[in-house]
Amino acid sequence: THFGFRDVPVAEKQKLVGQVFSSVAGNYDLMNDLMSLGIHRVWKRYFVATAQVRPGDRVLDLAGGTGDIAALLKDRVGDEGAASQGCVVLGDINGAMLRVGRDRMTDRGNVRGFEYVQCNAEKLPFPDGSFDLVTIAFGLRNVTDKDAALREMHRVLRVGGQARVLEFSEVTAEWFKPIYDFHSFKILPRLGQLFAKDSDSYQYLAESIRKHPPQDQLKGMMQTAGFERCSYKNLSAGIVAIHTGYRI
Ligand code: SAM
Repeated sequence: THFGFRDVPVAEKQKLVGQVFSSVAGNYDLMNDLMSLGIHRVWKRYFVATAQVRPGDRVLDLAGGTGDIAALLKDRVGDEGAASQGCVVLGDINGAMLRVGRDRMTDRGNVRGFEYVQCNAEKLPFPDGSFDLVTIAFGLRNVTDKDAALREMHRVLRVGGQARVLEFSEVTAEWFKPIYDFHSFKILPRLGQLFAKDSDSYQYLAESIRKHPPQDQLKGMMQTAGFERCSYKNLSAGIVAIHTGYRI
């Protein structure tokens, strides 16, 4: 079976994406490690380590899922006992992912300085200029109206604030493309079947990566959404890219 998202109407896509993440929520962390051989942890660390953020900042991690980025961000916005605590808001449209995220954080003792908000990235429930930094990691790809999400990220940023997008992108090295395709379309669905009993969701994953706008196109979309000084950096030969923009 195929999701064939190319031919699916907008409302339908949103529902299907919802089903995908409700279905994978419990196995999500294990699958990330298996599929990327653990490299997603390195990408996420780099993404947060190079973000423009200071102790005491208020940051929003959109499509935050099970909270990997939020946990890393919290280390940067404030240590326990510091004068300015800072705050990380974890926003996700999916209640199941959000619950797994909150439970995991609580189990690790991450309680103070976190807020959880179930919200659609296309229509954020925050006033203009609410955050010093807005991040979205492996999330924009799943959003139906990406332009609306980028406009919202821009709107809720304070002037001078930074937005960062970590997302699968276009592999730049020719020799690597066949290997990458084999991994995506042969290995990934099998891993999904084997470990999560759900090959469809992982088939969707591979398709959604191929459909996502490549580096320069996404940069253009950020500029159109109002961001200034937009740039990107490829990691691992473009398997993923980090896009950065500012509200000026
Ligand atoms: N950021 C996390 C990470 O890096 O591990 C989770 C990424 S996960 C692949 C994608 C997340 O995007 C899911 O938790 C899903 O519920 C969420 N999502 C999909 N569409 C969304 C939307 N329109 N608004 C907010 N979150 C959305």
